[in-house]
Amino acid sequence: MTGIVVEGLNKSFGSFRAVADVSFEAEEGKITAILGPSGSGKSTVLRMIAGLERPDTGRISLAGEEQTNAPVQERRVGFVFQHYALFRHMTVRQNVAFGLRVRKVGKDETVKRVDELLRLVQLAPWADRYPDQLSGGQRQRVALARALAPRPTVLLLDEPFGALDARVRQDLRRWLDDLHSELGVTSLLVTHDQEEALELANEVVVMHQGRVEQVGTPDDVYNRPATRFVAGFVGAANVLEGRMDGGRVRVADGWTSGDGGDDLAEGVRVHAYVRPHQISIAGEQTRLGSTSAVIERITNLGWASKLRLRLTDGQDLTADVSNDELPVPPVGEGDRVHLDLRNAKVFEVEDRPGHYAGVGANGAAPESADGGSAEPAIVA
Ligand code: ATP
Repeated sequence: MTGIVVEGLNKSFGSFRAVADVSFEAEEGKITAILGPSGSGKSTVLRMIAGLERPDTGRISLAGEEQTNAPVQERRVGFVFQHYALFRHMTVRQNVAFGLRVRKVGKDETVKRVDELLRLVQLAPWADRYPDQLSGGQRQRVALARALAPRPTVLLLDEPFGALDARVRQDLRRWLDDLHSELGVTSLLVTHDQEEALELANEVVVMHQGRVEQVGTPDDVYNRPATRFVAGFVGAANVLEGRMDGGRVRVADGWTSGDGGDDLAEGVRVHAYVRPHQISIAGEQTRLGSTSAVIERITNLGWASKLRLRLTDGQDLTADVSNDELPVPPVGEGDRVHLDLRNAKVFEVEDRPGHYAGVGANGAAPESADGGSAEPAIVA
């Protein structure tokens, strides 16, 4: 493996264990994302890989070489932080040339490399401007060019677009994707934004409370979550309380269909994670197994409608239904409809201390000793 290999990394600050037994591999030439909520240890992992923080235990190898305790300047990593760390008194060109100057690269070669990078990040016309004459998005492109100039073997990106507004983030994401296709440098991207991770990364490492919950492709973590934390954090999901009944998952007056639960005992309480767009709605009961609900509210989003629904046992859920798929004749607020709760991911509700208690509105799973009593929630 010549990309990034991290094995059994641990890091505590005082008595607080910020990173616990983290292992993963980031494939050469690909983008790997570390995705997790605030405080999950993502940046600490990245900082250890960069050599800015020393692990308590564990191993790090970069491009096939063990580098666990190597000083930063020997690691050949490029680093881009959320907050532009450009030198304010230097022009764009001087900023990009900085790493080459430090490494005493010759003048002609420096000019050639800087021109090449300014073209790549589409900033050639701004070469002689100072950072405070640029937009936030342009400054991050300069930061990226500066990180790439010395031809790092790995590029580490810590929430590089975090401080920018949604529209600029979107543009930069597309731009980074193109740039990466052209350069193919092994990249590790830290983000708490699941869309960013799913869109850009070939592989995603999902972290929570210092630990790795799952490593997989975007398709794996979205469609085959390994844990209930991943099921709730990656993509919106309704969390419905149910129980095993005759080998199936009963929710209110009906059933879900999907994965998990097959080996659970009769009567076991479960949480079924059902995505809003994986609920289909019929005005009349069309198939055995559908669950009935009353429409509380319909919001038309143009191409689709968002429905707030209440099950017969009082649980609320949200469905996103394309307007072409709404029942005919039309249904309205207060009407009873039948739902097909497809593709549910089912996890046992455990009363074990330390097990995840459920997933809150921001996707962060509160750790609680009282794992079984958490209210089902809708995860946005
Ligand atoms: P964010 O997205 O908010 O940056 P993160 O997932 O990157 O979060 P880290 O920055 O790695 O999380 O921090 C993980 C935990 O370790 C946090 O609780 C943080 O407060 C703690 N921590 C990080 N660095 C230090 C430090 N130098 N001293 C003490 N605690 C620290």
